[in-house]
Amino acid sequence: MNDTLYVSPLAEITTLGDDKIAMSVVGRRFTVEDKVGMLKTILDQAGQGVRLAALTESMADSFPPEAVEAAVTALVNTRVLVRNDARAGGDATHQHLQHRRELDALIPRDQLAAYDRANWLLVLAGEGACADALAEALAQMNVPLQRIGRDGELPDTGDKRALLLVCSDFEDFATFRAMNAKAVERGLASLYLGIDWSTVQCGPMVMPKATACYECYFHRVRSTRKFVAEFDVRSKPENILYHALPSRLAIQFGVAEASRLVLQYLSGTLDNLQHSVFSEIDSLTGETHRSRVLRLPRCACCGNASTARPVGTVFQQSLLRRRA
Ligand SMILES: [Zn+2]
Repeated sequence: MNDTLYVSPLAEITTLGDDKIAMSVVGRRFTVEDKVGMLKTILDQAGQGVRLAALTESMADSFPPEAVEAAVTALVNTRVLVRNDARAGGDATHQHLQHRRELDALIPRDQLAAYDRANWLLVLAGEGACADALAEALAQMNVPLQRIGRDGELPDTGDKRALLLVCSDFEDFATFRAMNAKAVERGLASLYLGIDWSTVQCGPMVMPKATACYECYFHRVRSTRKFVAEFDVRSKPENILYHALPSRLAIQFGVAEASRLVLQYLSGTLDNLQHSVFSEIDSLTGETHRSRVLRLPRCACCGNASTARPVGTVFQQSLLRRRA
């Protein structure tokens, strides 16, 4: 234990009178009545970071080194003291995510390095107020970010843990579908965020070939429309003269929803990740509606639909169709 130790950003420590300390680390709370003076000195020094050797030396006049070491070990075991100084950044988001991931315990220990923030890459595609607000928020949370145009080429993501986030100030079916096709082909996970007047439309979170993709969503939405021909004409980008101006309040909701999904996916925190889910948030009422998107088996992007001419005789084709 020669590393520098700091007080965890998730720890809340209060003194109850002169002879009691209450410590809480995300929900777990315990009170200590023993050796309160020594603990206060240790916590005081660990606020700025301290090494065990320096600590025992500075406390040698009042306490034996074994006692100091035992107290420090107990504080490390209860996670009140940690090895990285995450309080300095002033944001505990990543520590909370890590804590949740440990609760999941679904990721094997030897794969954890891949989920490290240094290995992340968020590719942000899109232009406009929503894309700018997201880029700013994610930069504040130290998410490694690369911006590309609304239908830009996907960069080489190597063996990074990467996610493509496509966002638009309106419901941009054409761009979302085009970027989805590229991402599915590349095997890159992707997420879609659009603002529709004052409503946020976020999703689905696509894991290529494993979950429904944006194309699956689009075709399922289209099939629910009463006037499909009108829907097709109205949703073509060349037929739209003016887009509604997005609501700033909606953008704030969109930034919150999309950055939550981005951080959860990249850090490997899997509870309620909501892949194959489409969320609609009415920013004026705060109402959130989530609906499941089912994969379309014959989807042109992620399914087995083929544009190639069918092979075989009519009889063979009908047999193949029946088997499918
Ligand atoms: Zn699909």
